[in-house]
Amino acid sequence: MSHGTVYLVGAGPGNPELITLRGYHLLQRADVILHDRLIPTELLRVVKPTAEVICVGKSADGHSVAQEEINALIVKKARAGHMVLRLKGGDCYLFGRGGEEAQACSAAQVPFEVVPGITSALAVPAYAGIPPTHREFTPHVAIITGHRQAGKTLEIPKADTLIFLMSVGNISAIIDALKEQGWAPETPIAVIERGTCYDQRVVTGKLESFLTTLGDIQVRTPAVFVVGKVVDLQQQLDWFGMRKNILVLGNYPQRYEHLGNIIHRRIIDCVPIEDSTDADASLRTLADFDWICFTSVNTARFLFERLYANGLDARALGPAKIAAIGQTTAEKLKAFGLYPDLIPRITSSSGLLEAFAEQDLSGKKVLLPRPEVASKTLPEGLRDMGADVRAVTFYKTIEIDPGDIDFDYIDSVLFTSGSTVRAFVKRFSPVPGKDTIHYIALGKPTRTVAREHGIDAELMEEKEGRMKDEG
Ligand code: SAH
Repeated sequence: MSHGTVYLVGAGPGNPELITLRGYHLLQRADVILHDRLIPTELLRVVKPTAEVICVGKSADGHSVAQEEINALIVKKARAGHMVLRLKGGDCYLFGRGGEEAQACSAAQVPFEVVPGITSALAVPAYAGIPPTHREFTPHVAIITGHRQAGKTLEIPKADTLIFLMSVGNISAIIDALKEQGWAPETPIAVIERGTCYDQRVVTGKLESFLTTLGDIQVRTPAVFVVGKVVDLQQQLDWFGMRKNILVLGNYPQRYEHLGNIIHRRIIDCVPIEDSTDADASLRTLADFDWICFTSVNTARFLFERLYANGLDARALGPAKIAAIGQTTAEKLKAFGLYPDLIPRITSSSGLLEAFAEQDLSGKKVLLPRPEVASKTLPEGLRDMGADVRAVTFYKTIEIDPGDIDFDYIDSVLFTSGSTVRAFVKRFSPVPGKDTIHYIALGKPTRTVAREHGIDAELMEEKEGRMKDEG
């Protein structure tokens, strides 16, 4: 059914989490994606590797693909039998010319489906702490484009709350029009730039003095203006602005949501090593080991990848006992059919050594699957206990580009491992906001690496079974 069908999908207002489930699922399956510039680019990461992704939005130099061309392209791709997804910012029918695209499909007899999105007109005020309606102040709201057609005066409909989109260039004309139409000079007004994103900024004022309030502030696009008494609730309801913005470089960002607004950027990735001769050799003698000790989710993941590549499976581990550094690793192992015999109370190398101290390791053979760069604490500690340790490299970390980050909007940076520190310092040098940004390191080894790079990070203890084994 989906072949040859067009899906007009609203991508939400900017924060990638604010797309609908239907939109997200379709995005993963679409053959062709035609998107605007105003969509969260993170969303494009979930498309199929074979998908054709075409940007039809306005480019930085203002050039845009004509609407007729977009309509023709949508129809052409659908007629070629593709599942076409037209991804538009916010909601697809609000000021986005989505209606025209649907009409083009209808005229060409191409089947289409509309997947509404969370519109910036409502979501952006909500993230700024402004409910568009409120029983005490207003029963109605008008959503208006401030983008005037040449020669026409701006008509402002009657409503107690006005929400202006596409208005950054016209704000002084809008304020004049409001005054002319009898709006009180002390009416509250707000501008919200880049709403729902980490670099959201809100400026509030009164109609009469708003231009002075803005002063030298260059309003960034995209932005929404809200006019009406509801703007006064902003101070009380600014839930998003009151939180700290925490940049998390690492995996499992949800774990840190109690700290504030999480901005998650990956800066490292784990990949297999090119030469797996050593790793493969260790797998053929797995049954000789007394213990196999997994120090991260990735050690489990990459060991099993090699097992499968060699035509083996969990049975190759034979009678060896299994140690997992923490709960996350233990969960991963369970997914492979292994129930760990030992999980330390504290998730760290030293926690693991403490737990092993209660075992008799003398003369025992221990396999330690490892990343290419790893601390020596564990193998040395185990050897001190008399174990015959074989540390074997299964994977390595590589640096990936986290994209540009505006550090003016970042309160804290959280490093979850030494490799995230090294990659960060390489990508962002000199270290941004040394005196203004609060750096946090998960676990002592990470803090040590941060200090080696001149970053005085606060230590965040690895809580029991929660954290450090994510690498
Ligand atoms: N269909 C979209 C609106 C398209 S018109 C929707 O439903 O949201 C583009 C206008 O939307 C911009 O000029 C701006 O006024 C507003 N807008 C979109 N994303 C925004 C954001 N993250 N923050 C503030 N305004 C935004």
